[in-house]
Amino acid sequence: MKKHYNIAIVGGGPAGTTAARFATSQGASVVVLERDREIGVPVRCAEGISKEGLTKYVDINPNWIAGTITDFGFISPSGKMVVFHSPTIGYILHRRLFDHALAEIAADMGAEIYTKAYVHGLRRDGSKTTLYLRHIGTETEVEADIVIAADGIESRIAHLAGFNTKLSPKDVEPCAQMQLANIDVNPNRGDFYLSNNWAPGGYVWAFPKGENTANVGLGISGKYAGNKSALEYLKDFVAEKFPKASILTTTAGGVPVAKALDKLVGDGLMVIGDAAHQVNPLTGGGISTAMAAGKMAGSVAASAVKDKDISAKRLSEYQKQWDKTIGKDIKRLYRLKEWAINLTDTDYEDIARSLDGLTPEQVTLVKIFKQAVKKKPSLVIDVLKVFAGF
Ligand SMILES: Cc1cc2nc3c(=O)[nH]c(=O)nc-3n(C[C@H](O)[C@H](O)[C@H](O)COP(=O)(O)OP(=O)(O)OC[C@H]3O[C@@H](n4cnc5c(N)ncnc54)[C@H](O)[C@@H]3O)c2cc1C
Repeated sequence: MKKHYNIAIVGGGPAGTTAARFATSQGASVVVLERDREIGVPVRCAEGISKEGLTKYVDINPNWIAGTITDFGFISPSGKMVVFHSPTIGYILHRRLFDHALAEIAADMGAEIYTKAYVHGLRRDGSKTTLYLRHIGTETEVEADIVIAADGIESRIAHLAGFNTKLSPKDVEPCAQMQLANIDVNPNRGDFYLSNNWAPGGYVWAFPKGENTANVGLGISGKYAGNKSALEYLKDFVAEKFPKASILTTTAGGVPVAKALDKLVGDGLMVIGDAAHQVNPLTGGGISTAMAAGKMAGSVAASAVKDKDISAKRLSEYQKQWDKTIGKDIKRLYRLKEWAINLTDTDYEDIARSLDGLTPEQVTLVKIFKQAVKKKPSLVIDVLKVFAGF
């Protein structure tokens, strides 16, 4: 590891390695510091992503595609299923292989990537930032012109740099997931189970990974996370719906279902991905938005280094790009999430009933969500803006 880099990125998830790729491709010297012993492990993800959300940022390699999704099933509390044929396909990834591939692309472009490199301190001093880290058990330091915090929901680096990363309980969803084998699933349909008994303020997903295997997990709204944990809800759900399943893995993790941070940059500092709460707050999906932010921030950081101007003003080009594009949608999705977490089981049954008799091709997300917000018509405009075309 060198003493100084143009750009030091903390975190080797999709946000960090995408930022590394775009910064390196413009000639910046880049280091990625990842705390875990292996990029992409442990996997704490349902691994779903839309084709569009993927191909905007990386060419598809069939090795890391576990399955293709053409349909979605919404299951009401009483078990009524509404099937929706998606106009765009989706994929279930092998996240471990996918995260590895993103890191390999960045490394091939010239980024240096270090695992077992836990960053625990940061000091900003004039025109440079020093990071303090423990790398394979040894204390060391690295200097950079720009530090990009891509360290996930914990966001320690952004916090150390003085960003307000606090999440209110209602804006963080505790999640639990199991990979189940020996279950009956449609390999091309992702299912969502909606009931406050299964997942209060959230939902249960069953994303197939082949014929008889699926990632089955749930997130519950922090607002309702009382005495029962996400894992306990999941155990009950699996016992009810998949009693014969073998449980291959069990994981837990939190998802920020918030608006993105108001402030994404400082002098020589940028925050991206889960660390910046850049997640779709309605679904909890954050892989694509993490890559989007990585691309924007990596490109802006490299050109700022070239121009020898790493001021917050110069780096705010990233914030402007974010606010003008995905940031706008995330605000709309946040308003919808705030409404959706209060839906009752009766509301879910009403939605399912209203779509009764429609073919999967006739069901659209606009129809589903228009019904969901019918008691709050002011949200219809948000529904139309974010789901038009779906
Ligand atoms: C249960 C669950 C299911 C999910 N399902 C989906 C889904 O189906 N589809 C979807 O799009 N999204 C899903 N998500 C969200 C998605 O996983 C994240 O939004 C995405 O991984 C964000 O990427 P990131 O690079 O910002 O952060 P991360 O992938 O979290 O990467 C951050 C990295 O930083 C490292 N790090 C942290 N602190 C330090 C430090 N101090 N020093 C060095 N390294 C550090 C971590 O080890 C980690 O590797 C899910 C999340 C959970 C919890």
